[in-house]
Amino acid sequence: MNTPDPAPGAAPEPLSPRQLRAVFDSSACGLVVQDGSGLIVDCNAAAERLLGLTRDQLMGLTSVDPHWRAIAEDGTELPGDQHPAMRTLRTGVPVHQFEMGVRLPDDTRRWISVSTSLLPAEGAVAPGVLASFFDTTARRTGELALAEQWQRLRSTLQGARTAIWGWNVQTDQLRWDTGSDHGPDEDRHDPANPPRAATPAATGAQDAWTARVHPDDVASCAVHLQSHLAGRLDRCDIECRMRHRDGSWRWVRLRGRVTHSTADGRPLWMHGTHEDITTRKALELELQTAATQDRLTGLPNRATLTQSLEALAQQAREQASAVFAVLFLDFDRFKLVNDTLGHAAGDELLRAVADRLRTALPAPCPGHAPWQLARFGGDEFVLLAPGLCDAGEAQALGLRLLALLEQPYAVRGKPIRSSASIGVAFSEGVDTLGESLLRDADTAMYEAKRAGRGTLVVFDAAMRERLTRTVQIEAGLPQAAALGQLTVLYQPIVDLDTGLLCSAEALLRWQHPELGAVSPAEFIPIAEESGHILALGEWVLRQACRQWVRWQEQDAAAAPATVSVNLSRVQMAQGERLLATVSSALADAGMPPAALQLEITEREVTREAHDARAQMQALRAWGVKLAMDDFGTGASSLGCLRDYPFHTIKIDKSFVTDLCRDPNVLAVAHATVNVIENLGMLSVAEGIEEPDELATLQSLGCRYGQGWLFGRPMAGERLLAHMAQAAGAPPR
Ligand code: C2E
Ligand code: MG
Ligand code: MG
Repeated sequence: MNTPDPAPGAAPEPLSPRQLRAVFDSSACGLVVQDGSGLIVDCNAAAERLLGLTRDQLMGLTSVDPHWRAIAEDGTELPGDQHPAMRTLRTGVPVHQFEMGVRLPDDTRRWISVSTSLLPAEGAVAPGVLASFFDTTARRTGELALAEQWQRLRSTLQGARTAIWGWNVQTDQLRWDTGSDHGPDEDRHDPANPPRAATPAATGAQDAWTARVHPDDVASCAVHLQSHLAGRLDRCDIECRMRHRDGSWRWVRLRGRVTHSTADGRPLWMHGTHEDITTRKALELELQTAATQDRLTGLPNRATLTQSLEALAQQAREQASAVFAVLFLDFDRFKLVNDTLGHAAGDELLRAVADRLRTALPAPCPGHAPWQLARFGGDEFVLLAPGLCDAGEAQALGLRLLALLEQPYAVRGKPIRSSASIGVAFSEGVDTLGESLLRDADTAMYEAKRAGRGTLVVFDAAMRERLTRTVQIEAGLPQAAALGQLTVLYQPIVDLDTGLLCSAEALLRWQHPELGAVSPAEFIPIAEESGHILALGEWVLRQACRQWVRWQEQDAAAAPATVSVNLSRVQMAQGERLLATVSSALADAGMPPAALQLEITEREVTREAHDARAQMQALRAWGVKLAMDDFGTGASSLGCLRDYPFHTIKIDKSFVTDLCRDPNVLAVAHATVNVIENLGMLSVAEGIEEPDELATLQSLGCRYGQGWLFGRPMAGERLLAHMAQAAGAPPR
């Protein structure tokens, strides 16, 4: 259609009533005309479709007609006077896009947006109202679904103690999108009004970010954040403390990334999650404490000690002035308390020891770090003393600590007395190694224990050599017998009157592949410490029994009546197992019990008398003979000899050596021999080297003797020949 353009500024031609009718009818909006009383007097096709009623049905209905009930936002029926058309009729004021629901005759529900305007009176026609409306159901349903999703997300996040935040990098404003206990009250987002705009600033409350982070965490957070903002980190992942709404600090994990940038490429908004990890952090702390602290005493544990020691050692290697000492402290006889009073008492004692040590720690040496006390394990404590480098000072301090620890403890109401042994090692400048210093201090502590407990020993290099040798010996012991490195030699024990062989002592020899011949005086104590003595002792016992039987077979008349085997305290402590071993060795060799003599040193007898008594009685009941070895080196008096079931007392070589030099020794030896004989026991003098020693012993009435004068320890097969040869030229 070719309509001429209206002249500029001229009013357009008004539409004709027919044109208006066509517009009315074809409008996609539902159009309804109501008269002054609200009755529908006209409508278009869209209105029929939207309201689900035909034109005929609609005519004569009012806005509040039950045919199409109007429903408010909250789901309740809209009262008649609230209906937009009625409001406009009543007030003359148009209503713009009022959203409401309509329930259609088929009971479906539809949302419409209604606008109304007053139709002025025209001629005879009274004023009415035009209601236009369009369908918003699709948009509305979409929004509701979105709000529901949002609500679900929110409650999920809150259940996981997680919130969503948005942070304006440029203004330092923080906005909580799902609400957080860390934000202000008003920052809870309304779930029914989810964010519609793409700009994060459109929703949520705003808050200053830095004001909520713990001052101690601000710096580390900033570093991490800058790395992300500068593009070095793909995303931000920070753990820090944040102020909770209740005023407390809580640990949170913040994860997020830049989501919006400014036109010139600068980061504008970051979005991410905020998770309350306080419980996890508390657990971590607990685990960390458990990993670094000794549960019983609350002192740093071994792992922490090792770390501190390594740090000190490193300093000592780098700086000549960074000297320090390691004090290794072991409480003496702790095991005894544990074994006799129980573990709870042992724990109590350890706590008391720790407390005493804690309070006795000296002030730090000027210019040095404080001293550190740690529990190393069991009854062992370690002191790291930065700045301590003088042996005299260490000694003085050690003695002070020892005196303190020697004071009685009240454990379970019982007074307990004990002492401690301390080993000290000093840093060695550039050569300082934490681990070896600790080992050196430990070695020195063992020396202190060996020196009689209750003392302090400063480490020296000779100790390290001894230790290396000890380690070598201990390592070689288990397979020594299998590798043929062990032999048993026999030393004759003779009747001093006749010079005849009456017994032979089995003495163990070890030819070490690197160390050469190692003395039993050296390796037996190590075997006792490590427990290898049980196997060694049994091996010797079996060898000796078989050897005795061979002598019998060789020449029963010349063979010694008994073979004497040394027994360690560790073997004695075995109890029933010792008896089983002895009986099996005798049975396997086919030897009568009376031909076996077992030697137990005097020290062991007096130390473990109680434990050993039952075994000794049992052995004696079988007929096995018992000898007290090295008499005179221990603490037993002559008076107590009768308390033990011994047949024989072996008088130590130290007595014999001094016999001819010291009249006092002679007097004591005389009395000793008398007591032994009077008790019906046999006396054997050990270590007779010289004829004058022999003569003196004979004059004292000593019955038997052993020593180089009669023969050195020798191979079993040589013994009888040696004695036969000696009989030709008796030693006296
Ligand atoms: P012991 O039982 O007192 O043995 C006597 C030690 O004195 C032996 O030393 C022997 O060789 C030495 N001896 C004997 N007569 C003389 C002498 O006239 N002059 C000198 N200077 N020494 C003499 P050995 O064989 O070195 O044994 C040392 C210690 O080792 C033994 O002392 C014993 O306690 C222990 N031992 C040896 N073999 C065994 C064993 O098989 N088991 C156990 N548990 N201990 C053993
Ligand atoms: Mg012996
Ligand atoms: Mg001896």
